Amino acid sequence: MTKKRIGIVGSTGSIGRQALDVIRLNRELFDISFLCANSSEELLKEQAAEFGVDAVCLAAGGAQSLVKLIREQELDLVLVAAVGAAGIVPAWETVNRGIDLALANKESIVAAGRIILDRAKETGASVIPVDSEHSAIHQCLMGQRIEDVQKVILTASGGAFRNTPNDALGHVGVSEALNHPNWSMGSKITVDSATMMNKGLELIEARFLFDIDPSILDVVIHPQSIIHSAVQFIDGSTLAQLGWPDMRTPISFAMGLPSRLECGVKPLDLFEVGRLDFRKPDYDKYRCLALALEVLKKDNNGPMIVMNAANEIAVEQFLLGNVSYLGIAEVIEETLSIFDTGDFSTLEEVFETDKKARETARYSVKRMNG
Ligand code: NDP
Ligand code: MG
Repeated sequence: MTKKRIGIVGSTGSIGRQALDVIRLNRELFDISFLCANSSEELLKEQAAEFGVDAVCLAAGGAQSLVKLIREQELDLVLVAAVGAAGIVPAWETVNRGIDLALANKESIVAAGRIILDRAKETGASVIPVDSEHSAIHQCLMGQRIEDVQKVILTASGGAFRNTPNDALGHVGVSEALNHPNWSMGSKITVDSATMMNKGLELIEARFLFDIDPSILDVVIHPQSIIHSAVQFIDGSTLAQLGWPDMRTPISFAMGLPSRLECGVKPLDLFEVGRLDFRKPDYDKYRCLALALEVLKKDNNGPMIVMNAANEIAVEQFLLGNVSYLGIAEVIEETLSIFDTGDFSTLEEVFETDKKARETARYSVKRMNG
């Protein structure tokens, strides 16, 4: 069997390291063409030595060397697991070359979804979601007709503060926000889960990945994180994908397609699970989710870019202790209110809007502190 040649962007992160765990268990199936991190030089070197990879790069100084690797290496698949808008360039370069993209980075789709997916259609590249909800939806849609879909339900854990009373949220800090009940992930997405901006980003991600009308998207809080998402059809059927909350399942699914791979995840035991609970999201508690729903409704990428950029700045500043937990939504709301943005069709416009929104969000943080 010929090996799949894979490049990994963000190999030192939570998703990247789990992708390497999957490869460790399936060495005969993969050849790593390149590895890339931002600045974790030591770990990157260790990974390169373990897997015998010659081509590595650090993106901290700029994306040029990463772009060169994606353009020049022999590749069948690129896993983009960088965090934030930094995922846009590698995702674009991958599909632009007609290479299949295993996409963990949701921010690239939120900011430039239509541009990246339209280009993928032109070049014939597949975009395979790694995000667990989208992997679930993708699996539920396999062999189905999109016109038979009535509703797409994204499940959410509710994050670190799902059991915290709303009036106590004024006092929560960084360590509490980073204490996710079900998933172990990088710090940005863990804070996004606490605010449920993560679900907001995922709604937009689903809208573009599956080209579905925003009005049929729904969010359900499911504290056990066993059902990863579900799709309802016009005949009364609902299909869902279930499993333990372990990212190696969706990562290995995206990497192995069309085969499923052994990835070290134990089989689901329904007796051990015992019960599955569901509740509606409280939009007073999850202001960020409410903001994202407004942005989703507008269905223009301008507000999506602005929201994503403001969220990145707000979360970065929250992690540094410069913004309170409730301040995250305030920064995003204020930044969104300043921009009157439309729909952009070029990456240059996306980058320009992203940059301006970051400046505005930084200013908003300063003003809140001043
Ligand atoms: P981490 O913070 O754990 O890791 C981020 C990775 O990206 C690191 O390898 C980092 O390198 C690298 N990186 C940062 N900036 C750049 C850049 N400019 N160019 C190239 N690489 C860069 O994040 P996660 O693994 O948690 O998340 C990655 C993405 O996957 C996010 O978009 C997240 O939303 C998404 N995702 C994550 C899930 C999870 O379980 N973790 C679940 C679903 C989606 P360095 O080590 O040098 O900083
Ligand atoms: Mg997810």
